[in-house]
Amino acid sequence: MEKPKRKSAASAVRDGSNAKRRPRRARRRSLYTPAEVHEIFRRFSIQRPEPRGELEHINAFTLLVAVVLSAQATDAGVNKATRPLFRIADTPEKMLALGEEKLGDYIRTIGLWRAKAKNVMALSEMLIRDYGGAVPDDRDELTKLPGVGRKTANVVLNMAFGQPTMAVDTHIFRIGNRIGLAPGKTPEEVEEGLIRAIPPEYMRHAHHWLILHGRYVCKARRPECERCVIADICKAAVKTNAIPAPLVEIKPEALPEPA
Ligand code: SF4
Repeated sequence: MEKPKRKSAASAVRDGSNAKRRPRRARRRSLYTPAEVHEIFRRFSIQRPEPRGELEHINAFTLLVAVVLSAQATDAGVNKATRPLFRIADTPEKMLALGEEKLGDYIRTIGLWRAKAKNVMALSEMLIRDYGGAVPDDRDELTKLPGVGRKTANVVLNMAFGQPTMAVDTHIFRIGNRIGLAPGKTPEEVEEGLIRAIPPEYMRHAHHWLILHGRYVCKARRPECERCVIADICKAAVKTNAIPAPLVEIKPEALPEPA
């Protein structure tokens, strides 16, 4: 009987049968049990039953533009610029009619405004040419648009189309790692960990709850653990208090300015 020939390393790689498999990336686990994660989000849902993003917009197109403009800029700064802009340009057609130069006049207070103006014009053109002027509700299609990365696409899918996505910004990345809810070295790892850990019934709003918690309570420099409703559950090394703050609904106007 003929002995089976040993495959060369190259052919083994080609046909996917490589005996020396690359070590699998170790998945970093959440420090919390499913019951604890459930309780964390139950409390967030009582604090803010209908959380909203702070970027002002009128429709899916203006949301997309606002998110593109918000890279490395504050929501307040973007809102100041887009309020008058969206009154005259709330569709891709109107944005193209406005033109890049006039758009620049509206947004020049926002960092990197020249590159962002170019992207807004190019994405408006592409929306008209390839999508009949509508914003697509699909991540792969969204990320084909100029200036739109995975995070921007996730924000639009969540806020405009109600999809249970997780856009990992600086606050969510910090919280995922600081409290060990979804540890990860990259935003994608934290995104995967959160989607795995968060109960499906809380996914629709989880993105906003985590951002608002990071912006107003679990702040970057000094977390305000004495104002935290999950202080008894939290396993962060930096925690300074273990008594949870009273669980009451927070009205948006009751929020202090973010630090
Ligand atoms: S207890 Fe402190 S560290 Fe933990 S989530 Fe609350 S604010 Fe953040």
